[in-house]
Amino acid sequence: MTFDGVGRSFGPHDVLAGVHLEVAPGEVIAVLGPSGCGKSTLLRLAAGLDAPSAGSVVIGDAPVRPWDPRCAVAFQEPRLLPWRTLRENVALGLPRTGRRRTAAQDARIDELLALVGLSGFAGHRPRAVSGGMAQRASLARALARDPQVLLLDEPFGALDALTRLKMQDLLLSVHDASPATILLVTHDVDEALQLADRVVLLGSTDGGSTGQVGVGAPGRAPAGVRSVHTVPG
Ligand code: ATP
Ligand code: MG
Repeated sequence: MTFDGVGRSFGPHDVLAGVHLEVAPGEVIAVLGPSGCGKSTLLRLAAGLDAPSAGSVVIGDAPVRPWDPRCAVAFQEPRLLPWRTLRENVALGLPRTGRRRTAAQDARIDELLALVGLSGFAGHRPRAVSGGMAQRASLARALARDPQVLLLDEPFGALDALTRLKMQDLLLSVHDASPATILLVTHDVDEALQLADRVVLLGSTDGGSTGQVGVGAPGRAPAGVRSVHTVPG
């Protein structure tokens, strides 16, 4: 996917300006940057949940469109439907087919719940589980879509250290099996280096009002070699 001269302003506030970033299919990009620099905004633009004020976001040959079906997002807050069970929340991620779920889709949901360690909590409602569990359900819901582009906004932020390591491993194995393009927002530098082919620093250039992305050549770095792109402040 390509971000070409992307800007997003809220009133007089230029949150993102002149963002150029080319992401190869199947590439894993970690997005780091200080709070408020526009990371979540960038993901919303990538998913078509918001439109850029300038420039364009394109996946393959086609611009991102509203609620783009090629994308799935795990939001910074899990955003589960509180009146539905975790199982039903994960099922919401399934691509729409017919009116009824197929047996294969049911099996897929069970598989995803097991992957994120929630088999025993499938019948619980979000309020009855911990924040970390809700976050894992949100990840499973995003994976259920089997997206071309997976957008993860601090997906492991609420997890304890051990579960976090497990979920990082899970993400790598899911990506090996089915290599979606991934934009992963994280505050954890170790996590970024562990998971990503490239790290992008979304930084302030004038004390917090303008974000820019450093650009590098797309493509998977050789094993063990990571590239980091920065923008001078
Ligand atoms: P954090 O690390 O705290 O999650 P972030 O990098 O994800 O921060 P964003 O949520 O993208 O930051 O917000 C960037 C800036 O844009 C903030 O100053 C925020 O107040 C502003 N902003 C985001 N969405 C809107 C909106 N809908 N209306 C007005 N301002 C907004
Ligand atoms: Mg954010």
